[in-house]
Amino acid sequence: MNSEQFRAAAHTAIDQIIDYYDTIESRCVVSNVSPGYLKPLLPPGPPANPEPWADIQSDIESKILPGITHWQSPNFLAFFPANSSYPGILGELYSATFTSANFNWLCSPAATELETIVLDWLARLLNLPECFLSTSKNGGGGVIQGSASEAVCTVLVAARERYLRNLAAVGKSVEESEEIIDNNRSKLVALFSNQTHSSTQKGCQITGVKHHAIKVSGSATENYILTGPLLREALEELTVKGLHPFFLTVTLGTTATCATDDFASIVPVLMDYPNLWVHVDAAFAGAALILPQYQHIPAPFKYFESFDMNMHKWLLTNFDCSCLYVKSRKHLLDALSITPPYLRNPFSEQGLVTDYRDWQIPLGRRFRALKIWFVMRSYGVSGLQGHIWNSIRHGDSFAQWVRGRADIFEIVVPPVFALTVFAVKAALREESNRLTKAVYEAVNADGEIFITSTVIDGIYAIRVVGGGLKTREEVLRRAFEIFVSKTEEVLKAEGTDKVNGVSDANGVAKVNGLNNVKLGGVNCTAALKQGVKEAEQASIRGG
Ligand code: PLP
Repeated sequence: MNSEQFRAAAHTAIDQIIDYYDTIESRCVVSNVSPGYLKPLLPPGPPANPEPWADIQSDIESKILPGITHWQSPNFLAFFPANSSYPGILGELYSATFTSANFNWLCSPAATELETIVLDWLARLLNLPECFLSTSKNGGGGVIQGSASEAVCTVLVAARERYLRNLAAVGKSVEESEEIIDNNRSKLVALFSNQTHSSTQKGCQITGVKHHAIKVSGSATENYILTGPLLREALEELTVKGLHPFFLTVTLGTTATCATDDFASIVPVLMDYPNLWVHVDAAFAGAALILPQYQHIPAPFKYFESFDMNMHKWLLTNFDCSCLYVKSRKHLLDALSITPPYLRNPFSEQGLVTDYRDWQIPLGRRFRALKIWFVMRSYGVSGLQGHIWNSIRHGDSFAQWVRGRADIFEIVVPPVFALTVFAVKAALREESNRLTKAVYEAVNADGEIFITSTVIDGIYAIRVVGGGLKTREEVLRRAFEIFVSKTEEVLKAEGTDKVNGVSDANGVAKVNGLNNVKLGGVNCTAALKQGVKEAEQASIRGG
C-alpha cells in the first residue's frame, strides 16, 4: 500500500468507523455467532498475491462485525464500560503512526515527557495527594500500564522486594542478608477482601507469594466494605502463624458491587504495620474522583503506596490505558531496573531523564500518553465531568425505578457509581436466586440489552451499569421496562405471577404490589414453594 492508496483507504476506513458509531444502536448488542464461526469463512492461508483494500474492508462488515459484541452500544450494560471516543481513536492512530518502542527516554523523548505531564494533570484532576505527582519531594509519579492487572502485579514485585530488603537490614553481610531473604520469602502473604478483583490473587500467583482474602459482609444498606478492625484481626492472625503480611489491596469500586473500602479506618492500623504496602485499586470508579462531590475520598491515600485507575474504563480513553501512581518510584526501580550495555545512554546514566521501562514489567511500551492528551484537550475538564456526572445521574434514575417496583425487585447493595445491583424478590433466598437467574437469562436471550450477573454472599444478583458515551436516560428506562416484562413473564411461567412472596410480620402477603391481601389462609411460603415445585415438574415433563 503506497501513500496515495493509504490516503484513499484511510478515508474509507474512517467513513466506515463513523457509520459504525452512528448506527451502532441498530445492531444486536451481543454477537450471536457460534464458536468456530470464522474459520470456514476464511481461506486456509494468506493470499499469494496482494489484495485490494476494498476487498479487505468489505470483510469487516461481512466476517468480523457478526463476531463483535458492541461495547460502545448504549444497550451494553454489562461488566464495566470500556469507553471509546473519537479523540481517543485519533491518539491510537498517531501512536500507530510513530510506532516506537519507547523503553527509555532517548527512544522518543516526547513519549516519556508527555506521559509524565499528562499523568500529573490526571493526578490533579483526581485530587490525588501531592505525594503521587512526579514533582513531589518524595519522588512519586505516574506511569501508564496496559491494565489494572499489570499494575497490581508490578507493585506486588516492588512491595515484595522492599519488604525482603527491609528484613535483611543494615549491618548484615551479603551472605547473611541472602539467607534471611531466602528463609522468609515463602512466608510473605498479601491481603485483600473477598470482594477484591481477582487480579491481585493472580498477581500473587505470578510473584509467588501467599494470599489471604478477608471476608466482608454487606446488605441493602451497607456495601461489602473492608474496615480497619477486620484488617487488624487478619493481620494479627497471620502474624501469629509466623507469616509476613507485606501487601494489601484496598478497592475504590469493587467489581461486583462498587464497594469502597473504609480507607479512613484502615490508616491507623498501618501505624502498627509500617512495612505493609497498600495499593488502591480504583480501576473503574477512580474516574468518579474528577467530580467535586468525590474529591474528599483520596485524602487518606497519602498513607498508601500506590494507586491505579483505568482511563480506559470510564474516562473516554480507548483501551489500553491504566494509570498507576506510586509514592516512591525508587521501589519500582530497585525491583525492576536492569541496564544491559545496549540500553546505556548518557541521559539515563546521569539521571536526567525517566526511563519508564524500569516502572513496568515489559521492556517496550506504546505511546499511550497521546490519547490521554487528545481526550483531555478535546473534552476539557468540564466535558469529562459532564460525562461521568451523566452516567451517575442515569444510574440513580435506574435505581429509583427499581426501588419503585419493590413488589418484584429488591436492591441488594446501595446503588453507587452508576451501578445498580438487584434481585427478584421472593420469600426464600433460593427462590430469589432461581428467579433472578431466570430473568437474567431471559433478558440476555432476548438480546436487546446485554447485562451481567454476580453472586455475592450466596445472593444471585443482576448488575446494571451504563457509563458509555452513548448511554441516555431513555435507554436505561427501556432496559428497566425489559426487566419488568421479563420478570413478569418468569413469575407467570413459575405460577407465581402477581405474588411477590413477601409477607409482613402478620403473615399478610403483598400481592401485585398491594399490601393486606390474604392468601386464603394458606401459608405464603408453602404456597410459593408448591407453585415453584409444580412449575419445575411441568418443565421436567416438558410442559
Ligand atoms: N480491578 C477492578 C475493581 C476491576 O473491576 C477490574 C476489571 O473490571 C480490574 C481490576 C481488572 O482490570 P484490567 O482488565 O484493567 O486488568
